[in-house]
Amino acid sequence: MTKNQNTMELRELKRILIIGSGGRENSLAWALSKNKSIQKIYVFPGNGGTANFKKCICLKTKSKDEKTIIFECQRLQINLVIIGPEVPLAEGWANKMREAGLTVFGPCQEGAQLEASKDWAKKLMIENNIPTAKYWSTKSKEEALKILERFKQPLVIKADGLAAGKGVTVCETIEESKEAIQAVFSGKFGSAGNTVILEEKIKGPEVSIFALCDGEKLIVLPPAQDHKRLLEGDKGPNTGGMGAYAPASIINQKELKDLTEQILIPTLKGLKKKKIKYIGVIYAGLMLTETGPKVIEFNCRFGDPECQALMPLMGEEFASVLFSCARGELDKAPKLTFKDLCSTCIVAASKGYPEKPQTGDQINIKLESNSSLQVFHAGTTIDSSDNIITSGGRVLSVVAQGKSFDKAFDLAYESLTKINFDGMHFRRDIGYQVRNTSS
Ligand code: AMP
Repeated sequence: MTKNQNTMELRELKRILIIGSGGRENSLAWALSKNKSIQKIYVFPGNGGTANFKKCICLKTKSKDEKTIIFECQRLQINLVIIGPEVPLAEGWANKMREAGLTVFGPCQEGAQLEASKDWAKKLMIENNIPTAKYWSTKSKEEALKILERFKQPLVIKADGLAAGKGVTVCETIEESKEAIQAVFSGKFGSAGNTVILEEKIKGPEVSIFALCDGEKLIVLPPAQDHKRLLEGDKGPNTGGMGAYAPASIINQKELKDLTEQILIPTLKGLKKKKIKYIGVIYAGLMLTETGPKVIEFNCRFGDPECQALMPLMGEEFASVLFSCARGELDKAPKLTFKDLCSTCIVAASKGYPEKPQTGDQINIKLESNSSLQVFHAGTTIDSSDNIITSGGRVLSVVAQGKSFDKAFDLAYESLTKINFDGMHFRRDIGYQVRNTSS
């Protein structure tokens, strides 16, 4: 194919459907809308912020099953489907959509096991010499308790399957590890708790690395750091994420290259050995320990809130790159460029998050437009009088960019003073690793 033909084909990307309703999908829609050749971006089901961006609209359907969505994609002549969350990926939506002839960015069900089964992912890591914490897995509570007794130290206890970020307990004592094992087998996590993973507790700063994969090749994105704990000082319960920043300077370009060779490439090769054509994001959550980097988790999609901090760094060609990836033709994609800026994302959560988020409160936003600032919606909806109302735990994020992290964080925190809803709370120490100023 000639270069001209290739450009012509890439120009065919006119209508996109993004599946998901969170901040990740809102930021993806915003980033993709920057591409001039794209005419329309549908988000299913989307949220109260979807229509804030040019060309973006919520897709409304009578039912929510994948058959209906496939029908809608065909009716709307969608050229590219992007599946945001892990649940539809683990349920095999990408398989069914590809069978129906759609072009999809997001791994097939087999590939999504990277996130949907920690046991499966651990085995893949061991088979391919990918560094990770020592572990045991079992379907028996008695066996798990025996392993703990033999190890004589508190272990990290993980439910094997998808548990909405709640399946991991980092235990301080053996007693806590015992309780966490009981909890996994109590049925609390449904079938996600059929198998338990007991993992050696490792120590070190955490960083996330990402690759866009077309089944054969990959492109690495800037690394990011997120903040999982609810409270400042990394205290309180784990959440879906209270903020993030990128690029994470804890690893330099050379280290990122090494991590790509040590972790991302072997993961993609390992998937290929299993005859899995992995199209989508490989997200590796790492701990940088004294004995080297170790993988603590894989995700099979963009992380949220990391995605929100990353999107403003993407060049306009991002949409074409995802389209090439989805077609297994990354070599024909334009070079993906990243803006030389520092980007930050601060999540504003509702009262009671993560246990029992309060919803139904009116949100007031009094911000002037600024090209270095975005408000990405997550748990929001619009009522019949066009008011923006809270509808979830992580309500929205303020995302800001600057030449330095201090500038980006100053802008983000200043902007947060102009947003309010009842019970709104956020962490003031997001990015403490890279900031000289405090908010
Ligand atoms: P995950 O849901 O797997 O990302 O785990 C949630 C958090 O638990 C991680 O961000 C880490 O802070 C912590 N964690 C997971 N595995 C380990 C481990 N083996 N040792 C210490 N901390 C861990």
